[in-house]
Amino acid sequence: MERNSSPAISVIVPVYNEEKNLPELYRRLKDALLSLQLPHELIFVNDGSKDKSLLELLRLGQEDDSVFYINFSRNFGHQIAVTAGLDACRGACAVIIDGDLQDPPELIPDLYRKYQEGHEVVYAQRASRDGDGYFKKITAKLFYRILRASTSTDIPLDTGDFRLIDRKVIDYLKQMPEQNKFLRGQIAWLGFRQTHVLFHRDSRRHGTSGYPLGKMLRFAMDGITGFSDAPLQLVTRLGFTISAVSFLIILYAVYSHFLLHRTITGWTSLIISSMFIGGVQLLSIGVIGEYVSRINRNVLNRPLYIVQGSNLGSQSAVIAPQ
Ligand code: UDP
Ligand code: MG
Repeated sequence: MERNSSPAISVIVPVYNEEKNLPELYRRLKDALLSLQLPHELIFVNDGSKDKSLLELLRLGQEDDSVFYINFSRNFGHQIAVTAGLDACRGACAVIIDGDLQDPPELIPDLYRKYQEGHEVVYAQRASRDGDGYFKKITAKLFYRILRASTSTDIPLDTGDFRLIDRKVIDYLKQMPEQNKFLRGQIAWLGFRQTHVLFHRDSRRHGTSGYPLGKMLRFAMDGITGFSDAPLQLVTRLGFTISAVSFLIILYAVYSHFLLHRTITGWTSLIISSMFIGGVQLLSIGVIGEYVSRINRNVLNRPLYIVQGSNLGSQSAVIAPQ
């Protein structure tokens, strides 16, 4: 089996516990790609799934020689899985799509059409996300708006990683060695001609979300710290404001003591103010800590992911870039 050295389109699917979704996903992806009548490859990145996703991928790989898989040694996270797919793909363009059928494969021909019209990035924007719970919808909406307000990078609203990107964009992404990946921000940062196609986001077909609250917060932090210094500026401003207010209160206390001969007493005011300051200080240290932890991860410069096995062939056996 010889791997096509330059397919017209690569499709990259991060997979974490999607065994039940894979057969339908494969079928619908294949239909969409066959309707385009272009040489293509499908790259599934198994991100340490605990179910039988890998077996399913091995089977698909045997049946169809346009199917490739990369099997991570453990769970490295969604963004890293997509990065591994981008490192390995050879297409003139690549589509990144979730493996849980929340992103409809039938949209790929639409994305490709816009690409042919001369756009290097065609992202799929969620016109609705009926499929997601109330909490997810609200937090996601809030997050995208905070992110947009805090950065000068033009990161599109309500857009996940479901998109088509040109080879140029893939090659530049590979030159961005950051450890805390936030691909949708990185792609926006790169620029080029970007456009969008609207779609309705379905609900996850089988299984549960691989993004529990903790991971979601981590991801949101990566987005903000990677693309904005606003939290640091906010902390500085907060410091200035509190110092100014405290100074006024000190002046008043001194005035009151020496001129009015009324000393301000009270356990309550003491405790409240010291608790307030304590809180603000911890918060500020936390904010700085977030940025320090980014520096730390990048200084350690570990491989982004470890590949345990793949059917990509030896020459493209991907270990981390850099
Ligand atoms: N995913 C992954 N690694 C993870 C979590 C998720 O590769 O640690 C994959 C998952 O299989 C899916 C995509 O990333 O293809 C999006 O994840 P999910 O649907 O769980 O997130 P949600 O849609 O709930 O935000
Ligand atoms: Mg999902």
